[in-house]
Amino acid sequence: MKEKISVEHLVKRFDDNTVLNDITTTIQEGEVVCVIGPSGSGKSTFLRCLNRLEEATSGQIVIDGDHLTDKNTDINQTRQHIGMVFQHFNLFPHLSVLENITLAPLDVRGENKQEAEKRAEELLETVGLSDKKNVYPESLSGGQKQRVAIARALAMSPDIMLFDEPTSALDPEMVGDVLNVMKKLADQGMTMVIVTHEMGFAKEVANRVMFIDDGYFLEDGKPDEVFNNPKNERTKGFLEKVL
Ligand code: ADP
Ligand code: MG
Repeated sequence: MKEKISVEHLVKRFDDNTVLNDITTTIQEGEVVCVIGPSGSGKSTFLRCLNRLEEATSGQIVIDGDHLTDKNTDINQTRQHIGMVFQHFNLFPHLSVLENITLAPLDVRGENKQEAEKRAEELLETVGLSDKKNVYPESLSGGQKQRVAIARALAMSPDIMLFDEPTSALDPEMVGDVLNVMKKLADQGMTMVIVTHEMGFAKEVANRVMFIDDGYFLEDGKPDEVFNNPKNERTKGFLEKVL
């Protein structure tokens, strides 16, 4: 198995607030890792450090051999291999669905328009939205917007996908469609790091679950171990509230 993400002694501080405390973990190619934990525990910050949306204060992050914490690394190059999906979709409101998906392939990669559109149409089919290619985001439901956001991330052919609470802003009836798309990606062997409160999804789809509390990774294990036999009292307390 190939090591995709290696995090060593990662520390992140905002002023004197230490948000990530000495995090060390590795993620292998094809692994699906769910990160769970209370609000404000550092989940988003951890995810954002993995594509340098936040700079690590100290420690090392290596993605596919690229040292993210080295100032000489071309982060834009590395980011092309890392797709990110946010809680609030972040679609471009003035662009159609198709244009949202083809923007980066055309602008960043200089792909040919016809090819980029063909690929976008394939991706829309994958996420079940073939009929929406010409509409604007405002006419989509939250679940549809999130599936477009996933298709947009996939258009750059990433080999790692980061998800930050992708279903937290959705009405309950939309959650399943988005999780199904994510499950399909997992089945295809995508390396995925997913911050989520969907414990059922974590149990079913994740290879590993990490529990983070107050900037410490208190658990890092198979879903069965973390959910059924957590090591830490704080994990037990958290799970009692959410399960
Ligand atoms: P989570 O995603 O688990 O809810 P976050 O990673 O968003 O938690 O936040 C962890 C802590 O870091 C919180 O105390 C939050 O206030 C702080 N924080 C996050 N982003 C910033 C920032 N840009 N500037 C200052 N503090 C921040
Ligand atoms: Mg968050």
